[in-house]
Amino acid sequence: EGFWRLSKLGVDVEKDPGKDFLGVSDALLEQIAKVLEFPVSAMLPAEAFTVVRKSFDARKFLKVPKFVYTVDMDVEKLLRFEPRLWDFISELEPEVGLVEHMPGEKVSGDLIHILRDCKKDQEGSALGESGNGIELGNAYKISSIQKPKVAVVGSGPSGLFAALVLGELGADVTLIERGQPVEQRGRDIGALVVRRIIQSESNFCFGEGGAGTWSDGKLVTRIGKNSDSVQAVLRTLVHFGAPRSILVDGKPHLGTDKLVPLLRRFRQHLQGLGVTIKFGTRVDDLLVEGAVIKGVKVSDVTATLPSCSEDWMYDAVVLAVGHSARDVYQMLLSHNIDLVPKDFAIGLRIEHPQELINSIQYAGLAAEVQRGRGKVPVADYKVANYLGGEGVESSYGSESRGCYSFCMCPGGQVVLSSTNPTELCVNGMSFSRRSSKWANAALVVTVSAKDFQTLDFHGPLAGVGFQYVSRSQTPPSFVNIAVFCYNNEALIFHASVRDLGSLVPVPDAATLERELEQRAATMGGGNFVVPVQVVTDFLESKTSAACVPPSSYRLGVRAASLHELFPAHITKALQESILMFDEELPGFISKEALLHGVETRTSSPVQISRNSTTYESTSLNGLYPVGEGAGYAGGIVSAAVDGMYAGFAVAKNLGLGTSEI
Ligand code: FAD
Repeated sequence: EGFWRLSKLGVDVEKDPGKDFLGVSDALLEQIAKVLEFPVSAMLPAEAFTVVRKSFDARKFLKVPKFVYTVDMDVEKLLRFEPRLWDFISELEPEVGLVEHMPGEKVSGDLIHILRDCKKDQEGSALGESGNGIELGNAYKISSIQKPKVAVVGSGPSGLFAALVLGELGADVTLIERGQPVEQRGRDIGALVVRRIIQSESNFCFGEGGAGTWSDGKLVTRIGKNSDSVQAVLRTLVHFGAPRSILVDGKPHLGTDKLVPLLRRFRQHLQGLGVTIKFGTRVDDLLVEGAVIKGVKVSDVTATLPSCSEDWMYDAVVLAVGHSARDVYQMLLSHNIDLVPKDFAIGLRIEHPQELINSIQYAGLAAEVQRGRGKVPVADYKVANYLGGEGVESSYGSESRGCYSFCMCPGGQVVLSSTNPTELCVNGMSFSRRSSKWANAALVVTVSAKDFQTLDFHGPLAGVGFQYVSRSQTPPSFVNIAVFCYNNEALIFHASVRDLGSLVPVPDAATLERELEQRAATMGGGNFVVPVQVVTDFLESKTSAACVPPSSYRLGVRAASLHELFPAHITKALQESILMFDEELPGFISKEALLHGVETRTSSPVQISRNSTTYESTSLNGLYPVGEGAGYAGGIVSAAVDGMYAGFAVAKNLGLGTSEI
């Protein structure tokens, strides 16, 4: 009885019906029969099997590229059809490729339905399986009479999922977003790409759906793609219009064209739940009494005249602002909120012709790609290199570090991801077909907090400056201390005024990011023109000739000396890693490969400390930092999962639902 899971079933590419077919083909049945050691595959009932994952594997050591399947087998259905099959499956051990279905892996329906059923079921009754930590299947009682008021700040994936859970559980939710709804945001991004007009509050980073909307829409995550929480997020996306294939695909992907209508439906659903959505409204400050949050100070960013700010009162504030909202970090520091520096990564975005990547990865099969319309998926890649080692005083700085590809966008384009004209950083996006001529990916080097802490305040430093950051408190409780080093890197440390006698510096890595983005803007010559360098020139540390190969970036590129953009050890790490990547992917170093500067916003440089169970800030009661900006997620799916868990935690803390949550 029940389900059994069969994994790693490989079907040769020429026998498979292709990437878009998610059913059980004869070729797949043959593989299943092989695992079951059942002699006649044609006697297996296809309806007893469900494909739960399908990936394409073209790694070099395979003689023939394969589609690799994970399949669930409904034992009852199978035996009803052919009872003699029991003789074949009863003896099988999990080690031989047949894994019994874990009860925790079974998802009892999508989040929306579960929550809606819970709401109807005021008495509470068992609704099915429970997940890992997030008790999806348990009953929730909606017990409170007066609805608690919750502000969710930011409508990226983390904010949307927090608002969804809280709305479903009966909170009085206001979703506050500084940017515009997707319709207006699309027009603002159009004006940026065509007429170079940037709206500081409505762009590739700010607006409905957050940074992930005009993105590649990759839904891959490192937090376990089959976990209940990830499945709940994916099923919720399907509920709002994403194709069902994302539940099965080994590398699920949406693309901007699918994300925009999906977000519109998400918004309508939230409004149907009674969630108030305020676009064009920026949270400028927190209202705090004692150690408890009382609300937020907001301003209307669309007002033509300087508008007065307003105080809005709430019982709890979920802070889901992403990591491009650097003003929010400054504001948090003014309230003595704990911010802990964490490792992050900086580098460049490399772009190749997609056909080159197809031929590197697929060789003779490359012709099957046909710009996303063919049988096999557009080729991607993932590369990583580890530099230095423990106790090694390496030339990459005192720390060992990694260099790796990140956010690879096959069939995509390079886009601007800065929010103000004096800074310049890039990222990648694509449409669902992934049919552009280009393949781009970030190549980034890890930068650890120790990179800053090893700096001596006296010896090598040319000067120390002070800059007040607090806007609301007199005297300010925190100051920034700018430290200028030999190589003109401006690094800024925060320190308490009270502690000036005994400085314990906290590095402000966001300042390093900003500094690099300003340098990139200068190298590009302004007007959002991106500085670029042919990869072969970057390796030789020489400026590229003015006439560089074409780029997908729409606002223009200019040949520059990107090898001079970073501190020397970062450049060296990139150069040596690119040489390694070429060994793995021969042809990666090419006259046609163009590096674009600068890729800085790969993850948050700080973490806002919070309690691991209640999700509440360790420094301020009622504040719930979530998602990428708070340092708890990296990517669309993990941010959504974090927002969802936070939604349940906030609901529980506010007495919404039962202790089962
Ligand atoms: P965000 O999505 O950044 O959302 C934060 C929201 O808060 C924003 O809408 C912002 O306007 C709002 N906000 C900020 N400050 C305030 C304030 N003071 N008041 C009110 N509102 C505020 N990830 C993937 O997994 N796959 C991809 O393919 C992918 N591609 C990407 C491509 C691009 C161009 C970019 C920029 C990012 C990409 N990412 C991708 C990363 C992904 O978008 C983020 O990891 C994810 O969106 C983080 O979600 P979040 O909810 O934590 O924050």
